[in-house]
Amino acid sequence: MDLGISGKRALVCASSKGLGRGCAEALAAAGVDLVLNARGSDALEQTAAAIREAHGVDVQTVACDVTTPDGQAQVIEAAGAADILVTNAGGPPPGMWSDWDREDFIKALDANMLTPIAFMKALLPGMMERGWGRVVNITSQSVRSPIAVLGLSNAARTGLTGYVAGTARQVAPNGVTINNLLPGIHATDRADALDSGVAKSEGISIDEARDRRAATIPARRYGTAEEFGAACAFLCSQHAGFIVGQNILLDGGATNLTV
Ligand code: NAP
Repeated sequence: MDLGISGKRALVCASSKGLGRGCAEALAAAGVDLVLNARGSDALEQTAAAIREAHGVDVQTVACDVTTPDGQAQVIEAAGAADILVTNAGGPPPGMWSDWDREDFIKALDANMLTPIAFMKALLPGMMERGWGRVVNITSQSVRSPIAVLGLSNAARTGLTGYVAGTARQVAPNGVTINNLLPGIHATDRADALDSGVAKSEGISIDEARDRRAATIPARRYGTAEEFGAACAFLCSQHAGFIVGQNILLDGGATNLTV
């Protein structure tokens, strides 16, 4: 399917690896020029080079922490008149509800709620003026069904979800859509880190921890960054203009819901 977005320009935050990279690859395959970002420059430059070679699109890189005001300013400047925005950042650490203090919440809110909001506030006006835009926020299945040990993530991401629900309806008249993609477990470094934690605390191997988790998913496997990216690229396509303010689960059926 031709996604109809060849020649458009996208900012994909936190995209040297994992789900962000999956989104960047799928957009590049559709002919979209990219601004990529991550804190570490080695993996970022390798990813950028691989995407340029595979897809022949223009790829700029900005190595910085997107959760800081300085990092946001650098990335926003590089994004220029971006038509597509994919927000992403690392997730907060797991823990226990009774241990988190104010600073832990502020950090999580900064990374997973206020950072995507800052990017939307910066890029939405230009998209609205030009009459076309696409925003996809990478959130989590935890906004539909809480993951107790990820309480910081549950809190920050549901806050973002509430903001998007109203804002998406305000920008839709100008041809701009905002939607959230909710990953369940996907085979990335983040999943490895979570599985390592389980392996350590339960005295089992990481393979066993992974197999146990996969067995709880109706699809009986982890998702891939490639299939996540394909869903993102579709939401950014010309065909998705009537999909507004939605929260789309990509979790192999793991979240047990009727609607
Ligand atoms: P990942 O494989 O660890 O990749 C994270 C990417 O983001 C890397 O490129 C990393 O590069 C970059 N990054 C992290 N923090 C950053 C920051 N502050 N500023 C700029 N770049 C940053 O993670 P992932 O699995 O793709 O997860 C992406 C998001 O989805 C996370 O918020 C995660 O919590 C959420 N999520 C993931 C899953 C899953 O199963 N994978 C499930 C639910 C939710 P640098 O380290 O070099 O900065």
